[in-house]
Amino acid sequence: MTGLVIKNTGSHYIVLTEDGVERPCLAKGNLRLRGFRSTNPIVVGDHVVVDSLPEQSEEEPLYIKDILPRKNYIIRRAANLSKESHILAANIDASFLVCTIAAPETSTTFIDRFLATAEAYRVPTELIFNKVDLYAPEALAYMEELITLYEHIGYPCHRVSAETGEGVGALIDHLKGKITLFSGHSGVGKSTLINRLIPGVELRTGSISHAHFKGMHTTTFSQMIPIPDASGGYLIDTPGIKGFGMLEMEEAEVSHYFPELFEVGASCRFGNCTHTHEPGCAVRAAVEDGAIVASRYISYLGILEDKEGGKYRPEYK
Ligand code: GDP
Ligand code: ZN
Repeated sequence: MTGLVIKNTGSHYIVLTEDGVERPCLAKGNLRLRGFRSTNPIVVGDHVVVDSLPEQSEEEPLYIKDILPRKNYIIRRAANLSKESHILAANIDASFLVCTIAAPETSTTFIDRFLATAEAYRVPTELIFNKVDLYAPEALAYMEELITLYEHIGYPCHRVSAETGEGVGALIDHLKGKITLFSGHSGVGKSTLINRLIPGVELRTGSISHAHFKGMHTTTFSQMIPIPDASGGYLIDTPGIKGFGMLEMEEAEVSHYFPELFEVGASCRFGNCTHTHEPGCAVRAAVEDGAIVASRYISYLGILEDKEGGKYRPEYK
């Protein structure tokens, strides 16, 4: 029998099996040792094969005996120089980054690093500007400036208030039939928004009371929450995680993940132009005449500087 891993903490999993039942599962010992060096071999979003025994009650754990090939996965390296890595989720179709203009302010540096990493993973991303009910006119104007910038590059943007519900209904359409990862700095209102989007989600989380999973809801874990419209869409919430970790990238590769830099960069004199000092650089010319927005270029330079300094930032601020 196959199934979808919808919850995971330590060695315990909840798998939605093909018969539509959520079942507690454990990983077979040999499976834990196989494959690449990760602290967690099976993650939320994985399609797995489980042993089904005849006459087994729904409360009894099944064993996961195989993981089906992944379309993609989001990985975070444990620490600098560490060979071990932690996979956050697999088979992601889309990602939502929840941002705020104030209380707290999400920096464009953070947004751009997030977007570049999402590009590297080929995960389409949309930006959600939350707390619009709070913003003074200047903040609203700044938000519109950012929305113009990001929509022009190709990232859909949404204006919402998780508090008042403004704009939240329209988001549901963007979640239909997809597995969407939700990210954002703490305090931006991610939990409030998820509760708004999926009424009763807290109830649902608390309702998993399989005897084998005592304490599951007290620890930090990733979970997939079904979108309440039977479209097969899920939202993935990863508490305590702000974004994807930055991937290893070659210097000349970084601009590939800034779509507008990549496009303009095709006209640079040198094919391996880093857009920092080279003569005939079309990107620097575009920044000068405003065709490329300065904040984006600054974010790009920041990533290059991290590489030069040998800094590795598993999670960036
Ligand atoms: P999380 O850390 O991203 O999950 O953020 P929370 O959902 O816990 O929200 C952080 C704080 O912001 C809480 O006090 C929320 O009540 C508040 N908050 C969330 N969304 C909004 C919003 O749209 N407008 C206003 N005014 N406050 C919000
Ligand atoms: Zn260049």
